[in-house]
Amino acid sequence: MLQNASITEIAEKYKPLWALDSVGALLQWDMETYMPLGASKPRGFTIAQTQLLRQERMLQLANLVSKAEKSTDLNDSETGFLRVLKRDLDYFTKVPPKLLEDIIKTATEGTVVWREARKKSDFSMFKPYLEKMVGLKRQEAEKLGYQRQPYNALMDRFEEEITTDDVDRIFSSLRSELKGLLTKVLSEGKFPSTHPLEEISYEVAAMKRVNEAALKLLQMPEKTFRMDISTHPFTTSMSIEDVRITTRYEGKDFKASLYSTVHESGHAIYDLQIDPSLDYTPLSRGTSLGVHESQSRFWENFIGRSREFVKRIYPNLKANLPFVARYSEEDVYRYVNSVKPSLIRVVADELTYNFHIMVRYELEKKLIGGEMEVAEAPGMWRDLMEEYVGVRPRNDTEGILQDVHWSEGLFGYFPTYSLGNVIAGMFYNRVQKDLNLKTVVANGELGRVKDWLKERLHKYGAVYSPKELQKRAFGETYDPHWLIKYLQEKYLA
Ligand SMILES: [Zn+2]
Repeated sequence: MLQNASITEIAEKYKPLWALDSVGALLQWDMETYMPLGASKPRGFTIAQTQLLRQERMLQLANLVSKAEKSTDLNDSETGFLRVLKRDLDYFTKVPPKLLEDIIKTATEGTVVWREARKKSDFSMFKPYLEKMVGLKRQEAEKLGYQRQPYNALMDRFEEEITTDDVDRIFSSLRSELKGLLTKVLSEGKFPSTHPLEEISYEVAAMKRVNEAALKLLQMPEKTFRMDISTHPFTTSMSIEDVRITTRYEGKDFKASLYSTVHESGHAIYDLQIDPSLDYTPLSRGTSLGVHESQSRFWENFIGRSREFVKRIYPNLKANLPFVARYSEEDVYRYVNSVKPSLIRVVADELTYNFHIMVRYELEKKLIGGEMEVAEAPGMWRDLMEEYVGVRPRNDTEGILQDVHWSEGLFGYFPTYSLGNVIAGMFYNRVQKDLNLKTVVANGELGRVKDWLKERLHKYGAVYSPKELQKRAFGETYDPHWLIKYLQEKYLA
């Protein structure tokens, strides 16, 4: 609760900013779902204007925030409130508007060129834009300030307090443990690398019914949540009472659609379960990208791809997708958990996914740290893919041009995907101890899992930093050992 007089004064003045964020989220959601294609230019303009307005109003709070910092009797929510505002303010005061404008402009132009370059598999088209963006991001890191590595400043924007020391430690233990596990699983062949179900087409209307059944199983609320369709699935939150996800229907390989739905629902559950008293404040959001991703991964993989969940959804699959009847429950379980070292991150399985992130992380760190030229990046990508995943891209579409992130200037974002997996492992270990998880899922009592997560994580919103939140919940931070343990138990069973 926010009670301190100087804090409530700021909270009152923050409300229009909160509303601008909410409007921005709705505009973005509409752009990805229902907006007519021709409207992208005015929509881009409108979004940019609301962001500028927000930045302007934000800076007006600076004096009040530094005054409030002198208060000594703040509770946890109030301290968190100031922490989150200060991080925002810090960015806008340290990064000059001209630099910010250059980044946005380069991102807009660069993304258009990246799309074309990806289609033609021609890195040389995209190279000048990437060079420009890397230069701008290095400037941004200098302005923000950092310890040891400029890349730390960029990661901190997405995952507060995380450093390359943390990530190096996590990745080195994941690498050594998962490499051996992957080799073993592949040689045993219990989990197939391909499955006939991948090739069978479904009707979109039928698949939609399956996804709706999954939402029911996850006990998603009817009044404050909805699902639509977009090319790249995402979750957005207009407020704690209005959270929306999208899913995709590619017409075949039904697991892609089903698990997109479950993944995004995991994000939505987090947003929906934040304490309502935090609504209209900067605390009414998840505390970091890594923690947010831990929730989506937890539901998608740890719960959704478990035997018990497959058992629950199986009758529904058979009822709506008649071809499923030719396959047993066990077959479907193997199909949704197939393991295949592949070139593309977004289709990677649980065992190989983190290796894809490591490739990107190593490259980003070197580019931002000035240890590598952009020209060397495609070759380094191919070498690292071969070393980590065991497959070598034949061209840049399969390699360095596959993700949109770098064209948009999102350096320091990739590691949060793996951090999410690591944190999810920690939650899985705890929830197993506290609830009889397998039985709970087998009985379809997923509300109990949601309540458990709400009490330990969701209700706090952004009150605690990701590290603080983990310390409170687990007494430790970013411990990869639980993820490794879970994967060993699942894939060697
Ligand atoms: Zn996600």
